[in-house]
Amino acid sequence: MVGVSQSRRASISSALFNLFIEVTSEASQDPDFIIPYIEWYAGALADYELQVAIVTKAKSLVAKAFKGAKLGDGGTTHIGGSSGNLSEVYWDVWGEESALCVAKIMFHEPMHNKLQQNDSMHSDPDAGFGLASGPSSTGCSDAPWDPFHLSQGNITAMANVLLDPAPQFMIKP
Ligand SMILES: [Zn+2]
Repeated sequence: MVGVSQSRRASISSALFNLFIEVTSEASQDPDFIIPYIEWYAGALADYELQVAIVTKAKSLVAKAFKGAKLGDGGTTHIGGSSGNLSEVYWDVWGEESALCVAKIMFHEPMHNKLQQNDSMHSDPDAGFGLASGPSSTGCSDAPWDPFHLSQGNITAMANVLLDPAPQFMIKP
């Protein structure tokens, strides 16, 4: 695991929570209903909960767990079927970005995970574009007009599947 300071974790977690709370409130669920994990989680996960790991690309958990899996540029989600889904974000790509930008990519990968869609999600109107599309070629920004932002379509798409099972691949330390 990469070393991420306590204060940086707290600000990323908070930014991520602010994105997910839009989804949980749309689905009339408690705000703490679903929160991705910043690092591997050794406990049991309910089959509707999500985890997303922060790793360096060289230490990809997807590459380790699923031989020959194709890795994305900034993160990867492997849809693993009965062995579970695995989402990760690359700190060597995102580590210098703002907490909001890290949170946005940490929302994007679990969208693949929960919607169980590969790259087709990036251009699927039902996924709502915005955070489903992935970061723009000009990079990520905190500005509200950044095309890589939480859209109403993203909120609806995720709220619709919030209670659906998406078993997670259990990461071992
Ligand atoms: Zn993607």
